Amino acid sequence: MNSTASGKIQREMGQTDMDHDPKAAAAAVKRQALALGADSVGIGNIERWHNAPTQMDPKQIMPECKSIIAMAFRVMRGSMRGIEEGTFFSNYSAMGYGGITYLYMPMTVINLCKYIEDRGYEALPMGHQSDWRAIDATYTGANGGGRLKRNYSRPVAPGKAAPDIMIHLRIAAYLCGLGEIGHSMMLLTPEFGPRNRVGVILTDVELEPDPIYDGPQLCNKCMACVRDCPTGAISRDQTVKLELAGKDVEFAQVDCDACNRGFRGAEKVDCELPPEKQYMSPDTKPGWWSPFHKKPRNLYNTGQAVGGSRGCTRACMVELERRGVLRNAFKEKFRRRKPWRVDWDSEPQYPADVKMAGEPVVGDGSGKRGKTDDVD
Ligand code: SF4
Ligand code: SF4
Repeated sequence: MNSTASGKIQREMGQTDMDHDPKAAAAAVKRQALALGADSVGIGNIERWHNAPTQMDPKQIMPECKSIIAMAFRVMRGSMRGIEEGTFFSNYSAMGYGGITYLYMPMTVINLCKYIEDRGYEALPMGHQSDWRAIDATYTGANGGGRLKRNYSRPVAPGKAAPDIMIHLRIAAYLCGLGEIGHSMMLLTPEFGPRNRVGVILTDVELEPDPIYDGPQLCNKCMACVRDCPTGAISRDQTVKLELAGKDVEFAQVDCDACNRGFRGAEKVDCELPPEKQYMSPDTKPGWWSPFHKKPRNLYNTGQAVGGSRGCTRACMVELERRGVLRNAFKEKFRRRKPWRVDWDSEPQYPADVKMAGEPVVGDGSGKRGKTDDVD
């Protein structure tokens, strides 16, 4: 901040402290990122994306990009507690998923971009802007690239990607040294294991890159993610092999359609169900991993993680914590009771003190209330 002759307080701009020292500039950016709320931060130079598919190439967005900054934002372990206990599902979707992705992370990413742009370099803030992508979600194909959606968009000129291109955030995090890509295709960080959301910044300032993660091995192919994924979306044997920044990376083929259903708590059936039995489409019913008769509404736009990432996040985290390889260690283990399953073929057993909405309640004699009310 500085003040003008009129007394107006304004941001300082035009500082040149990033001009000639990529190492000092990188250190300053990382300090800012952590101060602004990122849980970990790493930097990759653009050369690490040299073999990115065109539809995922950062240079298609910013041809003069020199550096990419990736930040991990932890999902609170407590945000998964309610789903683990089977009683409070919305917190993970709201505070662990949509709230981080669409509220908390953008603020940090945008504020770090301001820090860079105040110094005369362009900075593009990116959280989860893949909703408009031109490729489909099956981006774990053998070549690492997705399939272009038909009749969706067209390149504005020869040589350009079809809008929108999609930066693969987990791979960006890997290329910036934040952690490994686990068998589940999740980013695993040494701090939080699979409990991360990722935001990135593309910038034309040269920053000293961090090494690719080479710390203690995180994924040991224990296959807990495969075992506990309710829809079998994570293949045990079929893998994707990529060369990333000169290193061979291998992870499971993930059936994104199966994940999209399982993530929302839906189980696919082979027929069209009567409307009262449908969960989120005519051919889905509530799976044993969802207690809801219908898929609940989205929170923060896309928060609908009813399944609580049972395999790829919770099972993986339980295993990584058991092995003691995560820096964010806890006094008590996460899994304290036998995991539950909903038996949709049995009659529900409600607590004795619940009152059903719409049914008369036994009053206190005042006669003031005859029915239960909806409450927030
Ligand atoms: S659950 Fe096991 S195999 Fe799966 S990603 Fe985690 S560590 Fe790797
Ligand atoms: S989010 Fe759920 S359905 Fe998707 S891979 Fe993870 S455990 Fe499986």
